Amino acid sequence: MEKSILLVEDEPGLRKTLGDRVRDEGFKVETAANGIDGFDKAATGLFDLVVLDIMLPRKNGLDVCRDLRHEGIDTPILMLTARSQTFDKVLGLKIGADDYLTKPFEMPEFLARVEALLRRPALKGYSSALRFGGIRFDPRRAEVWRDAKQVPVSAREFQLLKYFTEHRGETLTREQLLRAVWGYDSAPSTRTVDVHVAWLRQKLEEDPKQPKWIVTVHGIGYRFGD
Ligand code: CA
Repeated sequence: MEKSILLVEDEPGLRKTLGDRVRDEGFKVETAANGIDGFDKAATGLFDLVVLDIMLPRKNGLDVCRDLRHEGIDTPILMLTARSQTFDKVLGLKIGADDYLTKPFEMPEFLARVEALLRRPALKGYSSALRFGGIRFDPRRAEVWRDAKQVPVSAREFQLLKYFTEHRGETLTREQLLRAVWGYDSAPSTRTVDVHVAWLRQKLEEDPKQPKWIVTVHGIGYRFGD
């Protein structure tokens, strides 16, 4: 699958130059021009890499990075710093950035850092937290939050939601979900899947009758996400 990069940079010229360049390399690119927008986009957990400027309007890059890590988002982060910000670099790495690059930099250097971070293999069984709608899902802590409130989920609901989020956008058959979540040994009917999906919808969807996240694919099964 095509890797996607979120570029958080307030200077329009640099945002365009960097964006065009990584797009030429075959990556998907989304951009944000301030820290709040950057945080909201990065917190979806949908990116393979975040390039994050430090000096940003509304919320600076260090705060964005710290808050993302605090929420369990472990997407690699490449920080962009100004030449004079020695202190920021150290602090950046301390609060969870993976690498940094000092402005001004040469394009090949930038691309080399980007590619190095994207090559880094994801740790197995270690999935990052993510946000969708008003929901925050943290698979490592097995926690689901709606707005500021924790939503209790059963072990099975948790497994099911985890599987859905790991297969975002894919149509999943009931049999596939049964095997993945209930295992080969137990023999519940596919109806069990429907029941658990209904419970999850009650907990996660704003309108469980018109689900936005766990959608029915008629005659086949379900799909998570847009
Ligand atoms: Ca800036």
